[in-house]
Amino acid sequence: MTRAEKAARIAEQLAELYPEPPIPLDHTDPFTLLVAVMLSAQTTDKKVNEVTPALFAVAPTPEKMAALEVEEIRELIRQIGLAPTKAKNLKKMATILVEEHGGEVPRDHADLVALPGVGNKTAQVVEAQAFGVPAFPVDTHIHRLAARWGLSSGKNVATTERDLKSLFPEELWNDLHLQIIYFGREHCPARGHDLSTCPICGWAASKKRIAEEAKKNAPKKRKKTAAKKTAAKKTAAKKTTEKAARS
Ligand code: SF4
Repeated sequence: MTRAEKAARIAEQLAELYPEPPIPLDHTDPFTLLVAVMLSAQTTDKKVNEVTPALFAVAPTPEKMAALEVEEIRELIRQIGLAPTKAKNLKKMATILVEEHGGEVPRDHADLVALPGVGNKTAQVVEAQAFGVPAFPVDTHIHRLAARWGLSSGKNVATTERDLKSLFPEELWNDLHLQIIYFGREHCPARGHDLSTCPICGWAASKKRIAEEAKKNAPKKRKKTAAKKTAAKKTAAKKTTEKAARS
């Protein structure tokens, strides 16, 4: 099976499993989505969704967010990891939106990644989910799965993004990004396990990966303890003595 055939089959399976994958971060417009995505770095979506209602009640627009002090933002998002840095970035980002983009979130990738706290992945999530622009944001989970399914070499996130974009038709990218995330959350443990029970790896995993997982799962050979080694030496010595006595 070629990589392209494998990709097509995976896309079909994921579409059956998750026909209409919902956007996991609660938001009402491009600005609130951008804020939620910025907050989600190294934090669960669930945690972000718990925190954003209070934040958006006070600062639902770039103007209102820019008017807050960093300390006020930090207090509102304090339950989230990296709150001090994220608070500073939210204030700066909102100020730039007001001063340079007429209070709107830009659609352009270069404009998005120029905002403080917005990297390639965050920008692509916003492009895909706020504006419907085809994008394939690759996080560590998608990166790992693409390698497990043999769709990419797994060298780095940039290579995975390039490989996935070349394997899947553009119109599937936005859904696939979410479908792979949902599949990973539901099915994939981080450590070695039995691939044969998985709906995708069961047929798609590379031979190399199957061998690696089998090795990880194999029962470890028990090391001989020092006491056992001494006992074995004594037995061998006794046998030698007996043999010598007989001859
Ligand atoms: S075998 Fe494991 S890692 Fe691979 S897709 Fe299935 S559950 Fe995920």
